[in-house]
Amino acid sequence: MPELPEVETVRRTLEPVIVGKTIERCEIYYQRLLPQAGASQFCGQVRNRTIREIVRRGKYLIIDLNGELELIVHLRMTGQLIYKPTQDLPLQKHVSARFWFRDNGELRFVDQRKFGTMYLTQKGDYQGIHGLFTLGPEPLADGFTWHVLAEKLKSMRAIKTILLDQTKIAGLGNIYADEALYRAGVHPLKPGSCLGGTEVKKLHQSIVAVLKEAIASHGTTIKDYRTGSGDTGNFQNKLRVYRRTGKPCGNCQTLIERIKVGGRSTHFCPNCQRWDPECMD
Ligand SMILES: [Zn+2]
Repeated sequence: MPELPEVETVRRTLEPVIVGKTIERCEIYYQRLLPQAGASQFCGQVRNRTIREIVRRGKYLIIDLNGELELIVHLRMTGQLIYKPTQDLPLQKHVSARFWFRDNGELRFVDQRKFGTMYLTQKGDYQGIHGLFTLGPEPLADGFTWHVLAEKLKSMRAIKTILLDQTKIAGLGNIYADEALYRAGVHPLKPGSCLGGTEVKKLHQSIVAVLKEAIASHGTTIKDYRTGSGDTGNFQNKLRVYRRTGKPCGNCQTLIERIKVGGRSTHFCPNCQRWDPECMD
């Protein structure tokens, strides 16, 4: 599933090629892509609108259209939003939507599992989009200090589960939660409230570092994720624990283990990420 670095890469690769373009027409091939609108109503509303800006919040892309309208996109499991510089290339499998631009090129939403969603909303009015409305702080924003993180971690839930909670921190998913906990040396099952100040500082640094490095590598392609140009990411070659079960830890050679935390596969080094359950007493 695309997480913050993947969605940010899609944003960065689309920005130079779609901002300033005017949508001439659109076609929706899969109605459930639009939970809040009919296809003809949706296409009627975006027609003749110009893309002014593309921003990201958590795992959401917000495409700002002229006339105070925003097109919100969530890629979910397998969604790909790809710009094609020429129009009417053959239609590949799993295309859910197409947007043709007036001068040239088109934007395609390709989605094998079909969980992706698109919404149209008045600019800044996110009340009808629950996940976006309740989103926690951006981990790469200036205001995200380790004190902010410490506040969010005050819970007896497992730290891994807290990191995946989008209302606590925006944009982390299974890959980067595991990688950040490994770098910080924190056991994924440790309750949030049990982390000391030093651990919270280390975790804060690890979250910021791993997200920045992954963006610099254009994200992680395990299977479906593609950039806005249709390319794969490169960070899958730099993962230290995620999907490395049974391989030696780069720090200590102990074999990486996989457990379930809150129903999610979780990878960690049992030697580097120890948990002394003292704080539970
Ligand atoms: Zn280790």
